[in-house]
Amino acid sequence: MNHQKFYTTYSSEDSCLQIFKHHYEKKLTHCSKCGNNKLTWSNSFHGWRCSKCSKKYSLKSISFMKDSNKSFKDWWEIIHLICHSKKSYSINEIYRISQQTRYETVYHMVLKIRQEMGKINQIESSQYYTPIRFDKRKQSRQNYTRMTPYHLIVTYKKTKGRKQDKIRLTLSKSGRKKLILALKKCSSNYPFPKLLHANNTLKTTELKCLEKCPILPKWENKLRNNIIKLIKGTYHQLQTLHLQGVLDEYSFKYNYRYALNTKGELFISKALIYL
Ligand SMILES: [Zn+2]
Repeated sequence: MNHQKFYTTYSSEDSCLQIFKHHYEKKLTHCSKCGNNKLTWSNSFHGWRCSKCSKKYSLKSISFMKDSNKSFKDWWEIIHLICHSKKSYSINEIYRISQQTRYETVYHMVLKIRQEMGKINQIESSQYYTPIRFDKRKQSRQNYTRMTPYHLIVTYKKTKGRKQDKIRLTLSKSGRKKLILALKKCSSNYPFPKLLHANNTLKTTELKCLEKCPILPKWENKLRNNIIKLIKGTYHQLQTLHLQGVLDEYSFKYNYRYALNTKGELFISKALIYL
C-alpha cells in the first residue's frame, strides 16, 4: 500500500482503532481474573469488560502501546512506515516522512515497535543457534563500517522444506558487553534507556537452552551480506545502542518476506498480549 492510499484509507482514528481491536480481540480469549471467556467491547474506554467480574482490559494496556498517550492513528502510521517497505528507514527518516510533529515521539514509538518485533522473533526462532562471523581483515574495507560487529548470533527454527525458517539476529556476548558499556556512558542523554537495554538482546541463559547447529554457508553468506548492506546503506552512523533494534526489524521482515498480508497488520497480529 503506497503512502497516499494509506493516508486516505486510515484518515480517522476509528479506522485505525478497528485494526488493533480486530487482532487483540483474538488474543484476549478469557478474563485473567476469573477465567470467563465472555468479554464485551466498550467504546467508552476502548477496551473489553469481563461480563462476570467486570474487570476492564483497555486495548492499549494489554499491548506494547501500554503507557502511551499517542492515538491509535499515530501508532498505526509509524507501524506502517516501518513495515511497508523491505528497506529499513532510520528513525530520522521515519520522522521526516511521518505526519508527527515531535521527533521524541517517533523515536519512542519506533523503539517500542522494534522491541516488540524482537520478542516476536525470539519466540518464533527459539530452537537452534549459530554464530555469524564478520572477518573485517579478510573483506574489502569498503564494505565495512566501524559499526559492523565482529560476531552476531542467529537463532532459528526449522520449517518443512527449510525455505521459511524463522530467524532472529542478535548480539553476541561481546556485542552485549559493548552495548552495556555504551548505555552506561550515555544513559542520562537518552530518554528511554529501557528500550535500549541489553535485556532486549538474547541472554546467555536463553542461548544455553538452544542447540548449536550450523547453517548452510550459502545462507550464512546471504545473511552476512544483507547485514553489511543494512548497516552501511541505511545507517551511516548506526550506534551500538540501536543495533539490536535494527536487527530485529530486519529479522521480522525477513521472516515474513513471502507473506501476502500487509506487513503492518501482520505485525499487530503477531504482537504479544500483556495481562
Ligand atoms: Zn472476569
